[in-house]
Amino acid sequence: MFDVAIKNGLCFINGEFVQANVGIRGNRIVYVGRDEIRGDIEIDTSSSFVLPGLFNAHTHLAMTLFRGFAEDMPLMDWLRKKIWRAERKLTPKDVYWGSMLGILEMLKTGTTGFSDLYIHMDEVAKAVGRTGIRAVLCYGMADRGDVERAEEELRIGEKFIREWDDAFEGRIKAIFGPHAPYTCTPEFLKLVKEKADKIGCSVHIHVSETQWEVEEIKKQYDQSPIRMLNDVGFLDWNVVIAHGVWLDDEEIAILAERKVSVVHCPVSNLKLASGIARVSDMVEAGVNVALGTDGAASNNTYNLFEEIKLTSLLQKVRTGRADIIKAGEVLQMATRNGYAAYRLNGGEIREGMLADVVVVDGRRHNFTPMYNAINAIVYGSFGCEVRHVVVDGKLIVEDGEVLTMDEVKVIEKAERIVEKFRE
Ligand SMILES: [Zn+2]
Repeated sequence: MFDVAIKNGLCFINGEFVQANVGIRGNRIVYVGRDEIRGDIEIDTSSSFVLPGLFNAHTHLAMTLFRGFAEDMPLMDWLRKKIWRAERKLTPKDVYWGSMLGILEMLKTGTTGFSDLYIHMDEVAKAVGRTGIRAVLCYGMADRGDVERAEEELRIGEKFIREWDDAFEGRIKAIFGPHAPYTCTPEFLKLVKEKADKIGCSVHIHVSETQWEVEEIKKQYDQSPIRMLNDVGFLDWNVVIAHGVWLDDEEIAILAERKVSVVHCPVSNLKLASGIARVSDMVEAGVNVALGTDGAASNNTYNLFEEIKLTSLLQKVRTGRADIIKAGEVLQMATRNGYAAYRLNGGEIREGMLADVVVVDGRRHNFTPMYNAINAIVYGSFGCEVRHVVVDGKLIVEDGEVLTMDEVKVIEKAERIVEKFRE
């Protein structure tokens, strides 16, 4: 007898779909196989797909409040003229409701865990606690060359980790989040890395997102962002970089050698005209590549199925090879690789893994006819086919309805908050 029994589904296991039953006890998958199983909660998944939970490895969750607020602008203008100004008006309560809206959207589209870098992170942590989703959270730090500010930022970042790491039976992992090499000095980044090693936590940072950034760092330090970070001893197996759009061969080799994970955010990179990352080259070099949406202001959704499809398509057009980054590979980036980047024992349907599982309705017009389940999911999903979501062994979404939140209330709250941003 299991706590949850997921029966008769086609399960994504080791890169392919196979018929299996999945037994969950506590917050772990404890059985995967063909035996008849029973559970306190039984989910019949005939004619459905059973996926490991999707992991959105780079978000600024409460930016749901800026969805559609500043469009058709390049990154630096977008940040300086619109986003950073509006963010100064954000209160902790705003961040709570903006995060609730983001989590609502993620759960409904099969995301069971995410990594968030933002401000007022206590509120994000509360929203995670309330809704039952899994998260890796960090306070976004930037010293901007000011020694006093560096100390203060590090103090806030460290306090957040002390207070929230392992909260809600381990559903929250708290880490360090220095913003980027153009907002943080090498001295500060070195200090952050040393602290992270001492505490035993990961570090998340934006790197080489735009050509502007690479030129700016070269002007300041006479070398590229990746080489500068490597020189100060920042790059390591516990470091996860977002974007990595502008990398040369040697930098990719450095990332592979230092075992740094990279989060590819194709929609945001395209929308801000940042460029197309060399994902297939990174994969070939042995870099762990995960997928993220970035903030909702530059996306505009947290629907990871969009990133899944685009990742594969962009590499095909970039390399001129239709056989590159196959469907099964990209589905693993969205699941296993995201969990692995942050050293979480999940993203796979396998005994011993965290019980984060998604059931997708297979009987849909966009999945018909069904020649191959992996291709159907990767190239044919809208995200709205997600029926049930289990996170940490608990059923959080049932028949498309999020059980842990009042959807109407969340939408109304968000609408009321954004009044102050309208001009
Ligand atoms: Zn970002």
